[in-house]
Amino acid sequence: MGRVTGPAPLPDPAAALRPRLPSPLQEVTEEPFARRGVRLLLKRDDLIHSALPGNKWRKLEPNLRAAAAAGERTLLTFGGAWSNHLRATAAAGRLLGFATIGVVRGDELAGAPLNDSLARCAADGMRLHFLDRARYRRKTDPDLLAALHDRFGAFRVIPEGGSNSLAAQGCAELGRELRGVADTAAVACGTGGTLAGLAAGLGADGQALGIPVLKGGRPHFLQGAVEELQRAAFGGPRGTWRLDDRFHCGGYARRTPELDAFADAFEQRHGLALERIYVAKLLYGLTTLAGEGAFPPGSTVAAVITGAP
Ligand SMILES: *Cc1c(COP(=O)(O)O)cnc(C)c1O
Repeated sequence: MGRVTGPAPLPDPAAALRPRLPSPLQEVTEEPFARRGVRLLLKRDDLIHSALPGNKWRKLEPNLRAAAAAGERTLLTFGGAWSNHLRATAAAGRLLGFATIGVVRGDELAGAPLNDSLARCAADGMRLHFLDRARYRRKTDPDLLAALHDRFGAFRVIPEGGSNSLAAQGCAELGRELRGVADTAAVACGTGGTLAGLAAGLGADGQALGIPVLKGGRPHFLQGAVEELQRAAFGGPRGTWRLDDRFHCGGYARRTPELDAFADAFEQRHGLALERIYVAKLLYGLTTLAGEGAFPPGSTVAAVITGAP
């Protein structure tokens, strides 16, 4: 009698990777907060897992679980040349036995030596595929996905930044961990999946605040994106949240002398190296808001440290 044998089952992500959850809380004293009687807590999601830090763990884990349950062994996702999400997906593939394909924005990169971030993806076994910017913009079109299927065979698509309904559901746990702890829970936003889940998990107990790191127009594109993610993940609006779009410092990965000076000084005061694309802008924004008196005396602000440098 022939036994039906397929490929070995994929491991359960949480059992295999042993994330540090709930992530630790660290209270820090910063003068603009302390002067007004506001507590500042760092929610150390950067300590969840060394290879999949922060919100990347919370967003990928339910997607990896769904892929494993469906017997899908190849993941395809999208990102820029310095994408933390591409790196996390590549690492998850290596650790859990998925094949990974990274579709990278910018075909001018194809002939050039890989930057450190993409080199790490490749070292984790990710196949890199470069698209020119015009085609990359059409990355959700059926035609483009069909062409990728012809080239790579069957795969499960995880969207750019990892933000889909499963990701938002995964990030709701972050909000639940902060219930009864923080009156305001703040996070830096790229694609908005983390904020969508954070607000839902906090429920009526607190306010979620998103600090976009991309320039996004008025109203900011994230307003609609977060609403749409909440609709897809939870069936409608959840929790209380708002965006403050004053702290992108010129756009994605842009910086100003004020931002750099703030981040350098914060690192010195607390002995904590800050991730500069997202986390530094979050803390810079919150410190400005504290100085403006945006947080009531006696209240607690939690800043989600979504990643490590
Ligand atoms: C990806 C990332 C974000 C953005 O998360 P979104 O869910 O896309 O808004 C924030 N911080 C860090 C460190 C990240 O790597």
